[in-house]
Amino acid sequence: MKDVMEIRVDKTTNSKIAEVDFDNLPFGKIFSDHMFVMDYANGEWKDLRITPYQNIEISPANSTLHYGQTIFEGLKAYKAENGEILVFRPGANLDRLNKSAQRMCMPEIPKELFIEALKKLIDIDRAWVPGKEGQTLYIRPFMFATDEFIGIRPSDTYRFIIFTCPVANYYNKPVRVKIEEHYSRAGQGGLGFAKTAANYAASLYPAKQAQKQGYDQLIWTNSGSHEFIEESGTMNVMFRINDTLITPASNDSILRSITRMSVVEIAKHWGYKVEERKVSVDEVIAAIKDGSLKEAFGLGTAATVAHIESLSYRDEDFDLPPIEQREFSNKVADYLNAYKRGLEEDVFAWNIR
Ligand code: PMP
Repeated sequence: MKDVMEIRVDKTTNSKIAEVDFDNLPFGKIFSDHMFVMDYANGEWKDLRITPYQNIEISPANSTLHYGQTIFEGLKAYKAENGEILVFRPGANLDRLNKSAQRMCMPEIPKELFIEALKKLIDIDRAWVPGKEGQTLYIRPFMFATDEFIGIRPSDTYRFIIFTCPVANYYNKPVRVKIEEHYSRAGQGGLGFAKTAANYAASLYPAKQAQKQGYDQLIWTNSGSHEFIEESGTMNVMFRINDTLITPASNDSILRSITRMSVVEIAKHWGYKVEERKVSVDEVIAAIKDGSLKEAFGLGTAATVAHIESLSYRDEDFDLPPIEQREFSNKVADYLNAYKRGLEEDVFAWNIR
């Protein structure tokens, strides 16, 4: 393991940091100076290196470009008040990456290697972790097939890269959503639980249609019968009906959100009743109609909590309770955001320094 962990460092002599306007950070368009790279061949990860952020050259016959054998993750680093940098639950992201890898016939990554690479990369680019209100460093690990071969079979070789982007406060606007009953992002036995390109490609057209109709995003339901709620856009979803928090249990068509896992743990710790189970569309609509639905919100790394302001089902728009009356989701959003910045005691041991 010792020499496998050896990470070569080639630092840039041409930092771009002075060109960045940290008061105006667009999402996902500004990249820190360095990236971590390693290659997989003959059954092992090798050539671990940190290099200047740069383009990569691939063959037109690269199998990822044709068949989409690629997976990714998304997580964030936060600057604490004392200047320390905290990364929220990176081990959970690696577990999910390795589950995705397994489903996509790709090699897994050992945890020590991933955490070491992440720490070293963030340490080298620590000046890129922005510290103003709401700003974070978004971290994008991803892996793709590198065989130069257009036959359909799993690639023998892969590349893994981590790059990072300083990002601004995600404006937490309440969302208008539509329950989707025609399109699906994932099917039973498919790829939904894997963080792989195909699921995002599948969601583009339906999301665009919903936006044309004036909605911010879709609530995905199970493919086929469309009876059960799965996710909301690229977030998991949770409802409060009377005093019970209800969230669709993870299954093979839902991506297992680390934010949702964390919120479930916090809610239980606070003494809330939480049910992770199948949630039918009928149940939610009935709860809206009889006034027992108190809160509805999406959960994900980007926004932490996205309140659902209105929900549309079969051409009927339902306004949900005013955001300021939503006791749980407001409280948990404040707590989790403070937690990630080290302003709360790390009672769950989620922050890596
Ligand atoms: N579902 C999908 C499809 C997503 O892309 C994401 C974002 N990773 C989530 C849910 C939320 O997951 P997390 O809380 O781990 O960001």
